[in-house]
Amino acid sequence: MQETTRYNLTIGGKSVPTKDHFEVRNPSTGAVVGLAPKASAADLDLAVESARTAFASWSKLSHAERQKFCHAAAQKLTDNAEEIARLITLEQGKPLNGLGSRFEMGGAGAWANYTASLDIPVKVLQDNNEGRIELHRRPIGVVGSITPWNWPVLIAIWHIFPALRAGNTVVNKPSPFTPLSTLRAIELMNEVLPAGVLNGIAGEDTIGAAMSSHEGIGKIVFTGSAATGKKVMSSAANTLKRLTLELGGNDAGIVLPDVDPKQIAPGLFWGGFINNGQTCAALKRLYVHDSVYDDVCKELVAFAKTIPMGDGLKDDTQLGPVQNRMQYDKVTRLVEAAKKGGGQVLMGGDPEKGSLFYPITLIGGLDNGNPLVDEEQFGPALPIIRYSDVDEVIVRANDNPNGLGGSVWSKNIEKAKEYGAQLECGTVWINKHGPIQPNVPFGGVKGSGIGVEFGEEGLFENTNVQVMYS
Ligand code: NAD
Repeated sequence: MQETTRYNLTIGGKSVPTKDHFEVRNPSTGAVVGLAPKASAADLDLAVESARTAFASWSKLSHAERQKFCHAAAQKLTDNAEEIARLITLEQGKPLNGLGSRFEMGGAGAWANYTASLDIPVKVLQDNNEGRIELHRRPIGVVGSITPWNWPVLIAIWHIFPALRAGNTVVNKPSPFTPLSTLRAIELMNEVLPAGVLNGIAGEDTIGAAMSSHEGIGKIVFTGSAATGKKVMSSAANTLKRLTLELGGNDAGIVLPDVDPKQIAPGLFWGGFINNGQTCAALKRLYVHDSVYDDVCKELVAFAKTIPMGDGLKDDTQLGPVQNRMQYDKVTRLVEAAKKGGGQVLMGGDPEKGSLFYPITLIGGLDNGNPLVDEEQFGPALPIIRYSDVDEVIVRANDNPNGLGGSVWSKNIEKAKEYGAQLECGTVWINKHGPIQPNVPFGGVKGSGIGVEFGEEGLFENTNVQVMYS
């Protein structure tokens, strides 16, 4: 029998074994994928110390030198994309193909290279006979990155590259549900980065909590649930850490009366079900005008029936299982609440006990006030809500603590933009839901977070402003 692979931490450029390990399981089969290292508080201290030591020289490199290192690290991701993609599929469950792990690694390479190429120019605020004033962007120090289990490597790359590009050093801690692909990606990037610049540790949630209060860390970039984000914010207060918090979403999509239901069905479907709905900015509540409600439901069901769900390693799989039992139970609870609250099951809603495969579920006849509408399901169950007055439905869409994304669907783009502007969220899409790109800032308002990632704005969140009068 083949021995299970044991993974190590990466600290100070070295592979560091831990005393204890924990099993990481494939959500499709239940089989053990590998043994993750369980870092102790002392391991975290060591990682922060090595990042602090590396900061002294890394922060002094020229922009061009750091760009070269970052591009080399990006190349490592590209060269090893297939190996890491398979690991993502094994531990996360998403398919290799479609909008799955190969797509995730394509994104990781694209984001890494784009971020590496960004400039950080000195801004001259004044230059006259009264003197010169320059605005510089200095690195903060050690950035602690805490990542979730839905897009494990891509989100780690979103944290790591802007931090490194700006001259910080990094300690990343992936989710205990999906640590292996991130640990491996960090190990590979360490083949070309100076020792200590990028450290990878894994362990229990307590390590995340210890990072949030750690004296040696200057900023935390956190992506995860709102509940944990609030804990991070409160434990970061003592050391006045800089924070970027990318938290949950409960994105509304609003379908206006003038749409062609068949034409928009694939976009609506993938907006809601990308990665099985386990995506922060997935479409999580669909409001459809009365005049097209029946047709939109019919076309969505027809499209959804063509999507194969199964083990992500199989070539034709488009959707995998829910990643973990806790999330599966949450989806189950919300669907049961929807049924109890008078929801009409249009498809799915009847999971087989035992596995983590939850069927694609579409439930109509719901309204605000039902838990499947009000709470973030983060899984393959979409509530559909009928409305008759667009102005009134905007109020219902905004009646939620989250504010990550939102979409409006219509043939009249200008009208759709007018309604979109009234949505309380960080990103509005017209006739699509979910696309993001490395040069466009992304972040939430209200309970969905603080700050943005991507583009120049995201890069600058990894810097402190220093002005210089001369
Ligand atoms: P989670 O909050 O449970 O965990 C996220 C990370 O925080 C993990 O690494 C975990 O180990 C760590 N952690 C747990 N307790 C901690 C503590 N007390 N202090 C510090 N760190 C701690 O989230 P999850 O279940 O892994 O991810 C799902 C959530 O993430 C969803 O709500 C989703 O919407 C959100 N998300 C948001 C975005 C975004 O960009 N806005 C992207 C992806 C996921």
